[in-house]
Amino acid sequence: MPHHWTDQVALVTGGARGLGRAICRALAAKGAAVAVNYTSRPDAAAALVAEIHAAGGRAIAVRADVADAAAVEAMAAQVAAELGPISILVNNAGIAWSATLESFEPAGFARLRAVNVDGTIHATRAVLPGMKAAGYGRIVNISSVAAFATSGFPGNHFYASTKAEVNVLTRRFALELGAHGITVNAVAPGFTRTDMTEGGHSPEAWKAIEASFAVRAITGRVGEPEDIANAVAFFAAPDSSWITAQVLAVDGGRTDFIGHG
Ligand code: NAP
Repeated sequence: MPHHWTDQVALVTGGARGLGRAICRALAAKGAAVAVNYTSRPDAAAALVAEIHAAGGRAIAVRADVADAAAVEAMAAQVAAELGPISILVNNAGIAWSATLESFEPAGFARLRAVNVDGTIHATRAVLPGMKAAGYGRIVNISSVAAFATSGFPGNHFYASTKAEVNVLTRRFALELGAHGITVNAVAPGFTRTDMTEGGHSPEAWKAIEASFAVRAITGRVGEPEDIANAVAFFAAPDSSWITAQVLAVDGGRTDFIGHG
């Protein structure tokens, strides 16, 4: 049976801000119904849902901390009940954590892993029964070029390790799920303008940070959330059924590590 964008129901974790918001907008523009997951910012989620409705799309806001397996399962059930069976999952929710070997403390790393790694596992497990029943699914994980261990941003090694784990799980989940018509791919963004990167910096400090990353990209600029959303929509498309177990760097072409091989 052919699949169309207008039949799709997408759950985007951390969908209310940053990359997640651009991903929700892109999937809604294609015709998918979108569940915008949030945890701390109901205002941002409600604003995005209103925007999608105003454009004629279908969307709901759903709260869950992705680190909480039971809450994620309840959220998936709510989405399926309100929008229909989930056919697209974007594991985008993530946090950053800066630490060196010297400043490392277990609780910080535990929370980082609970959100970036466990969250990806919980949400994937929660949508699987529905996708298996349908014999169809698109799962897109948001990794990072930090995972390739080649982008030497000081203090982000533990964050990088969580994203390396996401890359491994992407390929291994693809292996387990391919027989069910479910593809699993990852997008590894380079330095992109969001609250995670821009937040907390003065305009002058941000300008200097932005310039330092822009100069390392072949395209001469940092990423915008729409650059990442474009790649996610490609993997999530009904036509992308023969593309799985891939990790795609979307980083404007890093001159210091072309291809991230
Ligand atoms: P952001 O601006 O800080 O937004 C993070 C989003 O994740 C928010 O919507 C937040 O929800 C949500 N979130 C955080 N913890 C959550 C939890 N426990 N449960 C549910 N949602 C949670 O970050 P971003 O830059 O858009 O990053 C999105 C993803 O891209 C992350 O996985 C990040 O690691 C990855 N990434 C970003 C960059 C970059 O340069 N920006 C580069 C590589 C990879 P609330 O709105 O409710 O707080």
